[in-house]
Amino acid sequence: MGGFVRDLLLNIPNQDIDIVVEGEGIPFAACLAEEFGGRVTSHEKFGTSVVIFPDGYRIDIATARMEYYKYPGALPTVEKSSIKSDLFRRDFTVNTMAVKLTGANAYCLIDLFNGERDLRSREIHVLHSLSFIEDPCRLFRAIRFEQRFNFAMGKQAEAFMRSTIKKRLVDALSGARLFNEIKILLNEKGPMGCIRRMQELDLFQFVSPEMLQAPKDIEVLERLESVFSWADRVITADKPDVWYVYFLGLFYSLKEDAFLKAVDRLNLPTRMKNSLQADRTHCREILELLISNKEWGPKEIYYAFANLSIAAVVYLMALSSTDRLNQYANIYFTEYQGKAEPALTGDDLVGMGLEPGPAFQSVLNALREARVMGSVSSREEEVALVEEQFLKSR
Ligand code: ATP
Ligand code: MG
Repeated sequence: MGGFVRDLLLNIPNQDIDIVVEGEGIPFAACLAEEFGGRVTSHEKFGTSVVIFPDGYRIDIATARMEYYKYPGALPTVEKSSIKSDLFRRDFTVNTMAVKLTGANAYCLIDLFNGERDLRSREIHVLHSLSFIEDPCRLFRAIRFEQRFNFAMGKQAEAFMRSTIKKRLVDALSGARLFNEIKILLNEKGPMGCIRRMQELDLFQFVSPEMLQAPKDIEVLERLESVFSWADRVITADKPDVWYVYFLGLFYSLKEDAFLKAVDRLNLPTRMKNSLQADRTHCREILELLISNKEWGPKEIYYAFANLSIAAVVYLMALSSTDRLNQYANIYFTEYQGKAEPALTGDDLVGMGLEPGPAFQSVLNALREARVMGSVSSREEEVALVEEQFLKSR
């Protein structure tokens, strides 16, 4: 049901099978696991389970919620009403379709809210006028499906969205939920479409009123796509997390206090806060160096890039699309990357009689530098360098 059936009708591969059981979902999940040799994890409180099969494949199983009883008389039979009320709690009509798996009409489409019609006309409609108010996450979910499938928002749904935003109901979302929705949008195939739409609806104000306020911010983000294809060709080590690079772009030009407030609003984990902070600082430092310095030598090139996260490299290349920076980046990634790693390890240094400790870092740095400059190219030459520079004087 839900996304799986929607994608089935759109002819888009989707492995996320959700099963809803009218009755007891948890015992059903247990039987399914037993029959096919899987493991079950269940939440009694919600009546939900996940069955995980030996090959890692997962199926979500829910119990149809009986919220229907809060509105007596609305629907004719108990059996139908339970699935109907379950589907009625969904976000958009295109996500309300299911396939019946048992009994009469098995394998027929259950389409109680005109999901198929809306799928054909490629429109997103909510099930009732309070949908976005009930759960403002749906504002972001609407953008997800609209952009991913190139659907249009229904006229009414669009008006409901705008009034929910005007009432500032996004303020009621927890940091974790808001962050999660933004991350999902940045992970979509076309993140720029999602970003433009969020901006057009003025949704970034709920993270920070200052976010993406300068026209340059968007221009930089727009350049990212071509930088990613450059990175794909040139950067062989780690691949950058696409969503994170766009995320960095949202935070890049915020002033320090706005940055801290935004981090706080999204309740970002300390590690992510620190990496955003470090990437912002490093990118700025390198831009400064580009302005003030003349030609960079191998050492400058090496240290500029060696200290940057891969995500920051990508963002930096979009920030400054100068020939000089391009040239340096190409030199670094085609000539230095990987080749600067010394053959000697910390253990080797201990073996040579050096005291383990912070001083090791400067020894290793000297070795890297020498590799980059081409003054050493073998293990033996490294040993000679260490003896000459770090052991002789003692
Ligand atoms: P995706 O392909 O991005 O995973 P999906 O439609 O499968 O899209 P999920 O977030 O995986 O979306 O959620 C599964 C289903 O649960 C949806 O199809 C939708 O019917 C329902 N759902 C999820 N979140 C909400 C929500 N906030 N409000 C209402 N229904 C929701
Ligand atoms: Mg899904």
